[in-house]
Amino acid sequence: MAQRPYIVGNWKMHGTRAMVAEARAIDRAAERLIKVEVALAPPATLIQAIRKEASLIGVGAQDCHTAEGGAHTGDISAAMVKDAGAGFVIVGHSERRANHGETDADVRAKAQAALAVSINVIVCVGETEGQRDAGQAEAVVASQLDASLPRGEHVLERVTVAYEPVWAIGTGRTPTTEDVAAMHRAIRAKLLEIYGEGAEAVRILYGGSVKADNAAALLAADEVGGALVGGASLTAESFVGIVVAAAERLEHHH
Ligand code: PEP
Repeated sequence: MAQRPYIVGNWKMHGTRAMVAEARAIDRAAERLIKVEVALAPPATLIQAIRKEASLIGVGAQDCHTAEGGAHTGDISAAMVKDAGAGFVIVGHSERRANHGETDADVRAKAQAALAVSINVIVCVGETEGQRDAGQAEAVVASQLDASLPRGEHVLERVTVAYEPVWAIGTGRTPTTEDVAAMHRAIRAKLLEIYGEGAEAVRILYGGSVKADNAAALLAADEVGGALVGGASLTAESFVGIVVAAAERLEHHH
């Protein structure tokens, strides 16, 4: 991990105001682990409360609309999540691709919308189990990257990629360290092809059943710059264990 490791919690559709205390506890722990960049993406309803309570961690949204505003009942724009206190937005999570039929073009438009209001963006990609079994994992991810990644000015300062094999999300199953490394190397090559040399600095997170006890091995894989964590990010106890693993990984490297 050349850059500061980045550990991001995705709370999905979990959390009411009672969970703000958990975010505060994560923030306190992060103060002792400043070599790791820590962030949470709570439901949009909690962005403002958590931004107010947390001093150190990043706070972001799990999605945004492609448009600046308008007749889109129930949707939230990038400007709105920024206004609520979000410094980044996750786009293209496989649950949104699957449950809301989001295409690569939609994902890119959302990423562009985030960049247009000067917030960071985490673009998620990943193959299904069938695609991996058919030997298509790298090709699928390459084509998602080609079509989902935003372009234009300041992209490299603002974009993070999250590789999340769909079959590893919420299942307790993870790819081998070798498979993670191979995919992350392929993603790095693709980023260099798309963006040129500056893409060396783009962090590539691994996501899918990361827990405190497997984090060290996954974070040790080539080109893994951090983790996107779902289930294990819901309590300070489980999430901080992953942040500690990232900090220890750094110690071993320096
Ligand atoms: C996710 O939702 O991005 C994720 C990786 O979930 P989990 O850690 O629960 O597999």
